[in-house]
Amino acid sequence: GAERTKNVLILMSDTGGGHRASAEAIKDAFRLEFGDEYQVFVKDVWKEYTGWPLNDMERSYKFMIKHVQLWKVAFHSTSPRWIHSVYLSAIAAFYAKEVEAGLMEYKPDIIISVHPLMQHIPLWVLKWQGLQKKVIFVTVITDLNTCHRTWFHPGVNRCYCPSEEVAKRSLIDGLEESQTRVFGLPIRPTFARAVLSKDDLRVELELDPALPAVLLMGGGEGMGPVKKTAKALGESLFDAQLGKPIGQLIVICGRNKDLVSTLESLEWKIPVKIRGFETRMEKWMGACDCIITKAGPGTIAEALIRGLPIILNDYIPGQEKGNVPYVVDNGAGVFTRSPKETARLVAEWFSTKADELKRMSENSLKLAQPEAVFDIVKDIHELACERGPLAKIPYVLTSSFSSLI
Ligand code: UDP
Repeated sequence: GAERTKNVLILMSDTGGGHRASAEAIKDAFRLEFGDEYQVFVKDVWKEYTGWPLNDMERSYKFMIKHVQLWKVAFHSTSPRWIHSVYLSAIAAFYAKEVEAGLMEYKPDIIISVHPLMQHIPLWVLKWQGLQKKVIFVTVITDLNTCHRTWFHPGVNRCYCPSEEVAKRSLIDGLEESQTRVFGLPIRPTFARAVLSKDDLRVELELDPALPAVLLMGGGEGMGPVKKTAKALGESLFDAQLGKPIGQLIVICGRNKDLVSTLESLEWKIPVKIRGFETRMEKWMGACDCIITKAGPGTIAEALIRGLPIILNDYIPGQEKGNVPYVVDNGAGVFTRSPKETARLVAEWFSTKADELKRMSENSLKLAQPEAVFDIVKDIHELACERGPLAKIPYVLTSSFSSLI
């Protein structure tokens, strides 16, 4: 007879756009590869089941990244293991019961964490439930290079690292080589498997069919020096002598509504498109010739798949810093914080230095790992098969954990 459908619970939090994007990517890949064999739930468990501060992580995160120095301190001061485990123990004591209720509802056979703070508590709860041998627990790391130590937990069945650099760090932090795999960052299958023609996309998205196009963005929240860079491009991409533009600009502001209205109120000499949160990023990237962005891992991995040269103009201190050398040292882009410099570079790429643009585009494609998300779900499937036909997992609501504290 048909095997029971297995439940997969993906734990994420909407801090930025990246974690949700990775979670959705894994969900889509499960459906494409295995159809009804797996039922996948993507849950921001903290938000739904717990009280402050975990349900407020999204807001505190937005607050902290706006106050970059504060985030820097938080990132580095929570790094030594003894500090974060004391901190997390305290939180776990408060919230384990709610986490347990979350696990009860979805009865997962497999738990996938795509968030740096979602290893410890769920693993503790599984242990107290006596389920750590029955439920498969894996971590999918979504930072390309330098990543926070809370990602690494020796109690996981697998830790999927996006790069060799991250895998090295995981070994230093006590994981065994047999626990780690390096496949790349999971990107939505619509990116990986899309067959797109730039000409068709230009028509569909109502862009100029002929002018080279630069895409300017700043992650899910529209962060970084977007406004100043847009203005500078508005000047540098206009050839004053000929009295006509040499390029067009597309700005995707994500959830930053203020940025949309500010940019819409400006006058432009070149063709400009200003958009809010877009759900079909593969189309916008496919229609453009290069991209300017902060060093978000999701955006970088996507741009590489589309073969776009990347100008990195900002990074979130801590977890995004290492993404800069990943791009620059591999010849797929450049880093500059100066909007003027950025605007000058793009103008050169669109006129006298077209060969440089082409070379970087080729390097981008070489770094791309469009199959990563499929490799990850296939490996998880193998883990599940090794367990044999999964018996119905006995999720029993116990008060064991909460009564112990
Ligand atoms: N994104 C999107 N629509 C938008 C803006 C961003 O789908 O309008 C996606 C983008 O394609 C990427 C993610 O949001 O997958 C941003 O992730 P990244 O890691 O670059 O930065 P974060 O926002 O997490 O800081």
